[in-house]
Amino acid sequence: MFQTGIRQMRMAMSMVWGRPISPRNVERLIEDALETLTTFGAPGDDVQQLLDGPFSDPKVREEFQTRALRRTAARLAGVSPYYRRLFDSCGLDPDSLTVGRMAGVPVTLKRDLVASQADFLAAGSQPYVSTRTTGTTGRPAEVWLSRYEMELWPAMAALSGLLRNEISPDDCMQVNISSRATAAVQQNLTVCRLVGARSRMLGVVPAEESLDSLLAGGDSAPTLLTTYPSYLAELVRAARRRGVGPGDFRLRRIDCGGEVLSAALSRATYETFGPRLVNDTFGMTEILPVSGRVCDHGHLHHDLNMGFVEVVDFQTGTPVGPGEMGTVVITPYYPYRECMPVFRYDTRDIVRQLPDAPLTCELAGVPATSRILGKADHMLRIGDEVVTLRDLVEVVEDLPGQPWPARFGATVDDGRVRLGLPGDVLADASASELRRRLADRGLNVDVSTVLDDRAGVMIRPLRADLLETTFAGRN
Ligand SMILES: [Zn+2]
Repeated sequence: MFQTGIRQMRMAMSMVWGRPISPRNVERLIEDALETLTTFGAPGDDVQQLLDGPFSDPKVREEFQTRALRRTAARLAGVSPYYRRLFDSCGLDPDSLTVGRMAGVPVTLKRDLVASQADFLAAGSQPYVSTRTTGTTGRPAEVWLSRYEMELWPAMAALSGLLRNEISPDDCMQVNISSRATAAVQQNLTVCRLVGARSRMLGVVPAEESLDSLLAGGDSAPTLLTTYPSYLAELVRAARRRGVGPGDFRLRRIDCGGEVLSAALSRATYETFGPRLVNDTFGMTEILPVSGRVCDHGHLHHDLNMGFVEVVDFQTGTPVGPGEMGTVVITPYYPYRECMPVFRYDTRDIVRQLPDAPLTCELAGVPATSRILGKADHMLRIGDEVVTLRDLVEVVEDLPGQPWPARFGATVDDGRVRLGLPGDVLADASASELRRRLADRGLNVDVSTVLDDRAGVMIRPLRADLLETTFAGRN
């Protein structure tokens, strides 16, 4: 136990001083944690505190954030051609940077990353693996990661997952995300390796094949599933077609991310797969390793150990107040991000700031926002009304025909939201019912539906459609 204490202290100090963290040290912590868990069965409270960080006290939080931001900006000014230029142009002095002055630094957009990729590479770092965004907005951005990053992130995730009992050596993780999401794939496989759990990397293959895998293996069938909400929807439908239910699976958790997960789909998942917990996570290639988790109260809690999180106005880039909507802007801290770091990266993901009241959820010590409501660039505005992707997904996926994943397109035309739906989505519901359900969510929008996408309404892309072909269905 003495050794564990020393290593924990070393790790905590490197967080404060901002020196690179040795992935080997974190891996040793994992070994110690595994041993401790075998002997004592549960991690200590001090370890949990280390994981959640010192964020419930606003003053301590701001001190931590100021130090981390200065350290990160100072490094970027030294090694990143893009940010050296940007900081010069806005007169940023890293040594006097404060939380309040962050709004004076222009945000970085995906198009900047695509247009000036080489200028984002940090001098002196060794690119090792590139990973591409698989999102649904515009050209993919390519982000280079160093070996240090590829070793450190899974090690930290494995340690945290182990201590939070999110993964154990008895688990088997099935991974149904795009094989091209190299960073996420390698992260999941390495986390399993470090913990000693099994992993099945399947990709976005036909849902029937993934269902076969979830049902196969008896006592060694998958207990964890990592996927996208739209693919989860395909799995739920495949399971219902086959007539299998909770008693046929061993799943104890499903991690979902990358798309809007609706309440209707969560409910259907519980009914079909049985696990109590569908874990709605937030992550994005460009701002790795910063992530977020949704609590039981439906808030999105961002991991403030790894990065600085702001919610800013769509146009002005200045922070918005309680109850207001804005886009999530994230600055991953050094030493967690090394090779191609970003500063004030505008994810264009919309959230609403929570009302200014104390949180009472299980993650109350970590500040939170609403869940992701959609992409800013896909938001529909009719006068003062704003309709987000989540508004539409929640309503469409809750229709009696259970049309998961909801395939539709939406646009604003002549002061009305026009929804384009493939013929079978509405089933027995009518356009007036759709209007009523939107009104129940406080959206007084006039909806006209077109029963296909011919009328110039593009059906939204879903990650479940990034289907990877196999020969398994041939016989
Ligand atoms: Zn919460």
